[in-house]
Amino acid sequence: MIKALVFDIKRYAIHDGPGIRTSIFFKGCPLRCWWCHNPEGQEPYPEMMYYENRCIICGTCEKVCPLKAVSIVDGRVVTNRKLCDNCGVCVEYCPTGARELAGKWYTIQELLEEAEADRPFYEESGGGVTISGGEPLMQHEFVIRFLEELKRVEIHTAVDTSGYVSKEIMKNVSRFTDLFLYDLKVMDPQKHLLYTGVRNDIILNNLKLLDELGARIWVRFPLIPGVNDDEANVRAMGEFVSNLKGVEQLNILPYHPLGVSKAERLGKEQKRFEKPNRQLIDKIMNILEEYGLLVKVGG
Ligand code: SF4
Ligand code: SF4
Repeated sequence: MIKALVFDIKRYAIHDGPGIRTSIFFKGCPLRCWWCHNPEGQEPYPEMMYYENRCIICGTCEKVCPLKAVSIVDGRVVTNRKLCDNCGVCVEYCPTGARELAGKWYTIQELLEEAEADRPFYEESGGGVTISGGEPLMQHEFVIRFLEELKRVEIHTAVDTSGYVSKEIMKNVSRFTDLFLYDLKVMDPQKHLLYTGVRNDIILNNLKLLDELGARIWVRFPLIPGVNDDEANVRAMGEFVSNLKGVEQLNILPYHPLGVSKAERLGKEQKRFEKPNRQLIDKIMNILEEYGLLVKVGG
């Protein structure tokens, strides 16, 4: 039976498309954005996260770890991530929930049941299900079949994507998607490569393709000071997006350092950027509006 690895299910989401939604976060992403606010969604396998504030230093994890990856050093729990294979044994035994596994396998039926539980909210608010990540289309086979099921039971579908997939996958996904939430980060290909780990030609071409296919699209622009807030980038984005007829709105998503502490819990490091101030957000908004776009701040 086909299964997907999901790291979060957010109920009553109001920033992931129209109405009240259930957002399902699929694990695995081909990009490595420096500011990623879901670093636990990057790797395509379950990962152990350690919450130091919940830990009572009982030493249980040190005792039960089959790979001897945990030790208590100077009164602190240290996990050797090079040894740890994310088996989850310590998670099972930790008495305080200080160790959690990000990533759980679901069947289509199980996710459908999760979605059905919130149907009254969708009907009341014009909401539905948003497929997010990570990059959900890394698990495209499952996602396409799940979207097909959602359409069969008449639930509105939105797909939040980086657009970094093949044309064929994007075409297939579009058959069962009512709305795309499409991330555009940096317009310059070299800068895009530097800050995300991939070039942006596939992403831009897929956005054009969706537009040609008549898809409904909301473009999402994560605003990261010092990375993509320069006028040249904003104008290039305004120019590109204004030439697409299917883009209904452009959402500026101001940077928040949420990913920094999550990365620490995974034993990784993430750079912290400045949060954009109101003045900067207004300036960017005004420039984008010059291109005739409907610009909103937030999801
Ligand atoms: S997840 Fe497994 S290998 Fe990693 S620290 Fe816990 S018990 Fe050890
Ligand atoms: S088992 Fe949990 S509470 Fe005990 S030392 Fe390990 S992380 Fe801390």
